Amino acid sequence: MRNQPFRRCYCGRSARFEVSSSMSNPGRRYFSCKHFLDEKEDCTYFEWYDDELSNLWYKEKMRELMSLKSKKSTVAELSSENPLSDPMFLIRGLVVLVMVLILLVVVLMMIW
Ligand SMILES: [Zn+2]
Repeated sequence: MRNQPFRRCYCGRSARFEVSSSMSNPGRRYFSCKHFLDEKEDCTYFEWYDDELSNLWYKEKMRELMSLKSKKSTVAELSSENPLSDPMFLIRGLVVLVMVLILLVVVLMMIW
């Protein structure tokens, strides 16, 4: 993290550099004091690093991306599930196969 931008905040410490995940400013980077809501420090330093996203489409995409990021672990869990290990999947497949066979027999009898 050596190339990361740097700001010093009102209380003299180096400000925290983070990425917003709020609904109104998704993906927008900002600086804030490490003790932002600490009453004892009374330092209310806060500064946006990126310009505000004026494009609504872009905002929407960022929001999607960020929600996708948080869902990633769930998706990984789902995809690791093998459908063949599910007994209901096998039963359903067997039922479809039997129905197709019956249909085939009926069609063949009609042609005969
Ligand atoms: Zn501060």
